[in-house]
Order: sequence, then structure tokens, then C-alpha cells
Amino acid sequence: MNATELDKAAPKGDWSKKEAFKLLKEWQNTLDLNDWTITMDLLDLEEVGNGKAYQETEYEESVKAAVIHVARYEQLADYNKELFNFERTLIHELLHIKLCLLDDEEKSLQSRVLHQIIDDLSKSFYTTKYKK
Ligand SMILES: [Zn+2]
Repeated sequence: MNATELDKAAPKGDWSKKEAFKLLKEWQNTLDLNDWTITMDLLDLEEVGNGKAYQETEYEESVKAAVIHVARYEQLADYNKELFNFERTLIHELLHIKLCLLDDEEKSLQSRVLHQIIDDLSKSFYTTKYKK
């Protein structure tokens, strides 16, 4: 299966805190981010990225602390529900933390390229885990 097929096949619906935090710990460990304090909140859609994103991460690089915000699945637009992949989204957000020193937080070419690389890497990591 390619990345899009894996996204469609991914478990859907709201995640229990237990499952979500288990995956957070797994990927935090895989990406060697154990020196960071990372937590996660499932929020209403309008609370995430001013309603313009389904996930976002706030971090403080000097103290290596981050919080990942994920919008509740049932509030996503119907056309995005089919492709929403909680675990791959989580990997994407953790890669933002991993590469935070390269992010200048502007819409510069550097940030756009970085974001594209982060999403490509999240697909690769996820696909590698589930490839048969
Ligand atoms: Zn991103």
C-alpha cells in the first residue's frame, strides 16, 4: 500500500487518551525526543490554528517543552475525514519539534520547504511501520 492507501485504511474516529498517549510515547522514543516534555490535547476545531488547521504544535525550544493540539475527528470536514490519519499527524507534529531549530515561523521559502520535508518524512516513517 502507498501512503494515501494507508491513510484511508488508518483507524478513524476519536482517539481515547490512552491510545493517543501510547502512540505519542512510541513515536517520541522512535524519533529520539525523550529529552523533551511533550503533551497532547484533543481540542475543538476552532481552538486549533485559529480554525485553519487540524493539528498544530506549540513549543519552547529553550526548555524543550511542547504541546501538540489535535482537532476532534468528528469536527473535521467530511472530505478530510476519509484521509485523516491520527498517527501520521502525530509523527508530522513530532518532526516539527525534532526540526524546530530550522523553523523561522514565517511563510518564508525555508519554512515552506521544511514543512514539505516534514510531511514527506511522516509518510515515510508511517509507511515503513505498516508496510507488509
Ligand atoms: Zn506541519
